[in-house]
Amino acid sequence: MKYFAPESAAEAVELLQARPGAGVVAGGTDLVVTARGGGRPLPATLVAIHRVAELDQQRRTADGIVLGALTTHAWIERSEDVRSRWSALADASAMIGSPATRHTGTLGGNLMNASPAMDTGSPLLVLDASVELRGTGGIRTIGVEELLAGPGRTTAAPAELLGAVRVPEPAPGTGSAYVRLEHRRAMEIAVVGAAAAIRLGPDGVITSARIAVTAVAPVCLRIPDAEAGLLGLRPDPDALATASHVALAAVRPITDVRASADYRRSMTAVVVTRALALAARRAAGQATDDRPPAGIRRAS
Ligand SMILES: Cc1cc2nc3c(=O)[nH]c(=O)nc-3n(C[C@H](O)[C@H](O)[C@H](O)COP(=O)(O)OP(=O)(O)OC[C@H]3O[C@@H](n4cnc5c(N)ncnc54)[C@H](O)[C@@H]3O)c2cc1C
Repeated sequence: MKYFAPESAAEAVELLQARPGAGVVAGGTDLVVTARGGGRPLPATLVAIHRVAELDQQRRTADGIVLGALTTHAWIERSEDVRSRWSALADASAMIGSPATRHTGTLGGNLMNASPAMDTGSPLLVLDASVELRGTGGIRTIGVEELLAGPGRTTAAPAELLGAVRVPEPAPGTGSAYVRLEHRRAMEIAVVGAAAAIRLGPDGVITSARIAVTAVAPVCLRIPDAEAGLLGLRPDPDALATASHVALAAVRPITDVRASADYRRSMTAVVVTRALALAARRAAGQATDDRPPAGIRRAS
């Protein structure tokens, strides 16, 4: 095996370009742990990016926040700024693995691993995030929705590096949340997850809604039909339950070791309702106590 640890993003991209089949490793909590567990073996050439300081920066801009690909889940869960403005993302990062996983695992790795059960995917979809992909031709920016192609697949070229995730400033009156159904909180991934972002007008009526679901389709999935049905309504239980049932028509869950497809489908409504309710409470300035939100436990 060949191992490189470049100190700049440009050098990392050149290495990937020059060595077809080379793989990036950031924290290694997916790539290395999977290989050690007998899953997909490590690539013959590894380009480790942990020394690339420019990928480990977080900065506020006039219109949002830019999180370098090496931003850890621990950084995100601790950031007061992210917790208050981009709450769904902070919820998700705070749920991942264990403290050790969150201090090692990165936002870039979570996205590029492209698991349908990744926790940050749906929050980034409802927060309208985009990613910067760095290749030999420069940087291109695409939406997270465009990046995710299927289980373990992205639309990034093999020699492209994820450089940063850009998350726009939410409009005033917006609240967001991520909730997951889980067997237990630590060291376990979502059985079903849902993220929601709700904007309330001064009269308490929903003026914008975004919903995305996790682990119930080949990719984290936005549900525009359910979002559209909420506009102009107050976030009362009937409205949220109706939107959640619309969401059921869009999901395509599979049966695996964690749950059957039928169970996942029926629980989608519960998880979406809870994410919407918490996002609406946050939008109204009424939720201060639940960070991250308690998970919904699956009875075993
Ligand atoms: C015990 C345990 C518990 C976990 N729990 C959860 C959980 O609850 N929720 C969850 O979502 N995940 C969970 N995970 C998975 C993992 O921790 C996260 O997905 C983490 O964010 C991966 O980041 P990483 O930096 O370790 O990625 P790595 O393993 O380094 O890389 C993952 C993939 O992304 C690619 N990659 C990484 N960075 C880049 C980049 N900048 N550009 C291009 N490609 C890149 C790699 O080539 C690889 O294919 C868990 C893992 C473990 C071991």
